Amino acid sequence: MFGKGKSKRHLNIGEDLFIDIIPVSLFKTNCVIIKDLSANDVALFDPGAEGELILEEIKKFGDFNLKYIFATHAHLDHIGHVGFFKEKFPDAKFLLHEGDLFFLTENPFSRFAKRIKAYPCPMPDEFIKDGDKIKMGKLEFEIIHTPGHSPGSVCIYEPDVKIVLTGDTLFRGSAGRTDLIFGNEEQLKISIRKLLSRLSDDTTVLPGHFDISTIGEERRHNSFINKIYNENASCPLHDSF
Ligand SMILES: [Zn+2]
Ligand SMILES: [Zn+2]
Repeated sequence: MFGKGKSKRHLNIGEDLFIDIIPVSLFKTNCVIIKDLSANDVALFDPGAEGELILEEIKKFGDFNLKYIFATHAHLDHIGHVGFFKEKFPDAKFLLHEGDLFFLTENPFSRFAKRIKAYPCPMPDEFIKDGDKIKMGKLEFEIIHTPGHSPGSVCIYEPDVKIVLTGDTLFRGSAGRTDLIFGNEEQLKISIRKLLSRLSDDTTVLPGHFDISTIGEERRHNSFINKIYNENASCPLHDSF
């Protein structure tokens, strides 16, 4: 139901760079670790659950400075263990788009909290918005606001390494569901058009669930993208949240 139980993987993209993808919890949310070896800085994306396991993985890279904790959006399976990391690394900056603040203040998915041993989520240290550029060593993460799956969903793009973390906006072969609270399919279509207009085919896609892909692959084979450009095409909905 929530993915195929893929195991963690290490990507060899770019020099001086470690990229690890760890699917966590029953939702198989892809937590991504990016370490810039030139500065020892680490950015963590969507630590939804299994904080101890993620931490062990980061430690394998040696000394590190956890600089940023990004959330692509604030559904519980993506932010469930942000609190774990903020407790251990209070200087790490937790970054989220303001559009998803509702999920922290109202916690509409609290019924899942026990199942992923979620920590109370701290308030973001800073809000991120469309066009922001966040530097870490040689890397510069660009924020692309892509509402639709949730109001504050963002994609995070690194133009030199050519990777984009798409959260639950764009998956391999499909897109995020829009039937959850504040989901909006029309917005999601606009957001995906925006992504496609910005990113080249050779950009590697690191989605919030399921396997990695490229923008080119998705342009050709993604059934939701097909539906955007051809209203008669059908598209199976993913049930990840
Ligand atoms: Zn998700
Ligand atoms: Zn989601």
